[in-house]
Amino acid sequence: MKIHEYQGKEILRKFGVATPRGTACFSVDDAVKAAQELGGNVWVVKAQIHAGGRGKGGGVKLARSLDEVRARASEILGMQLVTHQTGPGGQKVRRLLIEDGADIKKEYYAAALTDRATQKVALMASSEGGMDIEEVAHKTPEKIIKVFVDPLVGLTDEQAKQLAVGIGVPEASQAQAIDTFKKLYTCYMETDASLAEINPLILEGNGNIKALDAKFNFDSNALYRQPEIVGMRDLDEEDPDEIEASQFDLAYISLDGNIGCLVNGAGLAMATMDTIKLFGAEPANFLDVGGGATTEKVTEAFKIMLRNPKVKGILVNIFGGIMRCDTIATGVVAAAREVHLSVPLVVRMKGTNEDLGKKILADSGLPIIAADTMAEAATKIVAAVK
Ligand code: GDP
Ligand code: MG
Repeated sequence: MKIHEYQGKEILRKFGVATPRGTACFSVDDAVKAAQELGGNVWVVKAQIHAGGRGKGGGVKLARSLDEVRARASEILGMQLVTHQTGPGGQKVRRLLIEDGADIKKEYYAAALTDRATQKVALMASSEGGMDIEEVAHKTPEKIIKVFVDPLVGLTDEQAKQLAVGIGVPEASQAQAIDTFKKLYTCYMETDASLAEINPLILEGNGNIKALDAKFNFDSNALYRQPEIVGMRDLDEEDPDEIEASQFDLAYISLDGNIGCLVNGAGLAMATMDTIKLFGAEPANFLDVGGGATTEKVTEAFKIMLRNPKVKGILVNIFGGIMRCDTIATGVVAAAREVHLSVPLVVRMKGTNEDLGKKILADSGLPIIAADTMAEAATKIVAAVK
């Protein structure tokens, strides 16, 4: 799960990390009022969407008077902000963050993240802050300093110092940087984050270290014990089909291809997507209906898949273990009737009550294409959509 920058900064502040003062706003009038209340004479108007690269896309603007705050806020609020992370359609800006302008002397990068290769938490820092860290990793990997944390010990002073010195924080500000890294680590652990990123982490003209941006990803499996974080969820930022699917306990992820997939079990769903690719086409989605797929769930799954205008055919691939093939077949037939299925449908089922399931499909009178093996199923659906 993701949250907005202003929410990320609230969390950072709770753990003692310094950030600029700021207020989240939903209207232009509120933005002007927020700037007035913050005082000073430079403000930053920042689009709040769940995607990075807002600066380059025109979603982060300085304002030097209240009139400018009004002008920038009017431009940004409601705009369709396109960044390298939003896709070409962009994301509509519904919230703003109005902040004190910062006096930036140097921009660094800092993050705590789960490193899959070492199966440890890594603290990562770079002198090349403010920009795309993937690009830094690609072009100048030596400019990224990484340390791996022993969970029993936590991030040590030596490791935090290694990061601060490694990215070139001036000596007078090193203690603050070390303190920030340690707090970032604690914050990451206690919130069950999978990523806690500060880009840029800045050195101010007066030598202070501050978090100017905040990006968090949280481990969804831990949300049950993070009610405060769940409260920060913004459904406007999420794919409506994925939200609806989750309400029916379906694991659904939209993809770019044209073959809808309905599968039971995450592993089989992945294998099905691989097989479609192997046979020269692209899946339109990942969809795991789970172990207890009822007719209602299967119908809902069909509706969600078919709402995607790119879908030109559907492949159902079911392994009947505890779930019996006849139950799934009944569900598929009912769903196909209810949604007036108009695209080719290939069904492969194996396992318990397989023959009964196949008979239900054959007797339904629906133009369902049966397949026995994964290869046959993939070949048939790829041919049908071409
Ligand atoms: P992102 O582009 O979505 O990562 O948004 P950021 O919050 O990182 O902002 C992008 C860039 O805007 C930063 O790297 C800074 O260079 C600049 N920026 C953000 N806040 C301020 C500020 O208070 N003062 C100045 N001068 N620049 C800022
Ligand atoms: Mg940033």
